[in-house]
Amino acid sequence: MASVTATRLEPASRIQFLRGVGPARAEMFQRLGIHTLEDLLRHYPRAYLDARRFVRIADLKPGELMTAAGKVKHAAALRTRSGRTDFVATIDDGSGTLACYFFGQPFLARTFRVGARVVVSGALDSLEDRMLNPLFEIVEGEVEERLHVGRLVPVHALTRGLTARGMRTAVRHALDAVAERVPDPVPAEVLRAHRLPPLGESLAQIHLPDDDVRLGEARRRLAFEELFLLQCVMELRRRALQQEGRGLASAGPGALAQAVQARLPFALTPDQQQALTEIVSDLRAPRPMHRLLLGDVGSGKTVVALLAALHALEAGHQVAFMAPTEILARQHAATIARLCEGSAVPLAVLTAATPAAERRALQARLAAGECALVLGTHALLEEKVKLPRLALAIVDEQHRFGVRQRATLAQKSVIPDVLVLTATPIPRTLTLAWYGDLEVSRLHARPAGRGRLVTRVTGEEKFPQVIDFMAKELALGRQAFVVLPVIEEGGRVEARAAEAEYERLASHPRLQAFKLALLHGRLKAEDKQKAMEEFAAGRVQVLVATSVVEVGVDVPNATLMVVENAERFGLTQLHQLRGRVGRGAARSVCVLIPSPGATAQARERLEVLGRTEDGFAIAEADLRLRGPGELWGTRQSGLPRLKLADLARDEALLEESRAAARAVVEKDAWLQEEAHAPLKEALLAQYREPLELALAG
Ligand code: ADP
Ligand code: MG
Repeated sequence: MASVTATRLEPASRIQFLRGVGPARAEMFQRLGIHTLEDLLRHYPRAYLDARRFVRIADLKPGELMTAAGKVKHAAALRTRSGRTDFVATIDDGSGTLACYFFGQPFLARTFRVGARVVVSGALDSLEDRMLNPLFEIVEGEVEERLHVGRLVPVHALTRGLTARGMRTAVRHALDAVAERVPDPVPAEVLRAHRLPPLGESLAQIHLPDDDVRLGEARRRLAFEELFLLQCVMELRRRALQQEGRGLASAGPGALAQAVQARLPFALTPDQQQALTEIVSDLRAPRPMHRLLLGDVGSGKTVVALLAALHALEAGHQVAFMAPTEILARQHAATIARLCEGSAVPLAVLTAATPAAERRALQARLAAGECALVLGTHALLEEKVKLPRLALAIVDEQHRFGVRQRATLAQKSVIPDVLVLTATPIPRTLTLAWYGDLEVSRLHARPAGRGRLVTRVTGEEKFPQVIDFMAKELALGRQAFVVLPVIEEGGRVEARAAEAEYERLASHPRLQAFKLALLHGRLKAEDKQKAMEEFAAGRVQVLVATSVVEVGVDVPNATLMVVENAERFGLTQLHQLRGRVGRGAARSVCVLIPSPGATAQARERLEVLGRTEDGFAIAEADLRLRGPGELWGTRQSGLPRLKLADLARDEALLEESRAAARAVVEKDAWLQEEAHAPLKEALLAQYREPLELALAG
């Protein structure tokens, strides 16, 4: 017998030893990732068939899922013309007879013996007056539990060779064998505080629910458990990060920042001011900062980050400011140099384009601890670059700044303060799920003084008018982006599509007077660089680009953006893209052109962008429409696998689980209490990597 705190089931719980399974079928289960009985119980149904409507055979109506019970009156295998053997059984309940037809299952003759009592669930086919492949169950006793018919019937994911009936039967046996003994990662105190049913009961109800209410309770409890584990990870990491005593108090008195701020051509918005205060107070504290600065495109994150950096520089430290691409790193360098003009700020730029000799000299000075604001790409994190006095690392436009990268930073010196700038207004639930271990500052309001941005969705047939409009804007001295989706990640196809579009536009009669440039992912770094520079300098009027422009180039003179095959982008991505125009004082226009093959629904989705400019609202809509994995246009988001919890719908449950996780970790930061052993075990099984830092040792 397992003891109460045993967190592993005994070997007998291996799936192959389950009644009716054996080595051959065990392999099928293993294809589904099911190795133990607990794995099987965690293989939740993906849907349920409601087969609870019992009717007399005489009252069966075609087309609806209904259940009838009766005796087998007649049963026969039938050979079809194509050589297949089907099976038909006739059932009689006194009110009438019902034919049940099964394709290719002659072996059912052994099950449907004449005189046997049987329950069938299915939809009557009105043309043939029969049920095709109905769910069925032979009932021997009077009060037997039904698994396959006449109930909420679970629908599990299957694999070749494994039938729905086989799966349900295995689940039933597994529930009987171990449901009560599966270790519950949710501590008893949490179950009590949040009025959650015990695990065993929830597992039984999620697979074979008695009714909708109990199914709902089971779903809630198991979803809570998923979110609770995730929030425990976040809390443990937060704790661990805070308790690392190796941070620096790294802010000077602020004179340098004030001097630069006084020279800015604008005043900070209240949001910017607030964020800056939060960041600087973190810099002053001796524990390491891990903060996210969240704000829409153009909300003014760069200035805030720069002013924070100046506090650290003033105290004599090194600051690294990292962008995801060369182009952006260079652009940041230029912007920051401009903002700092007139003040003595030690700036250094270190990118792939930095000449080798210069790079070596600079690296030597940095290695010697020279105070500087170093601008570069994420390559700054490489081992080669030594920053012994690094106090603050600013990471721009990176959605996931992983534990590994933080660890790399930590090796460079003491743990520096980390500020992540994110241009996507992430919905609150996702912030909690992905960044629950970070502090968050938000920039809501956009700085005033921008021109209006109008967004229109229009069909491909209007392309001539779009070009007309473009030509007029260009004639006024303005610039335009034409954006295409990346069709195959980094592939040749992308390059070819972009080149074709570039050719089409460059040879267009209305655009002869203007210069166009092409920018796509397959170009060499210096060619990308050149295209961007020419466009930024106004020597090129139209930039035809794949979504590389997404990440933050600033060309205030650009007033038109045309996005082709627009339905291929997520709403959030499009919102970020259009943020590239409307940066200057003039009115700007964003034209979204869905591809001719796009569905009406896809077009409709795009209209959301015509109606609102609120990035948070758009992100919420995206989350609802496309799910979290799609939100960034990449599935590689490092999102935990949630089977039941839904980040678009379960916000309240997420809040609850967060409070519960906080309470547990507050009391037992290393999960050493006996009562938390199953929790710790479950966390290490599911989240080993993210927890390495938090629970190491
Ligand atoms: P983000 O990085 O958040 O997309 P930026 O920091 O690039 O935004 O700012 C966008 C533009 O707005 C820049 O040209 C910047 O100088 C300007 N800006 C920033 N803050 C303000 C402000 N408070 N008032 C007016 N303009 C601002
Ligand atoms: Mg920016």
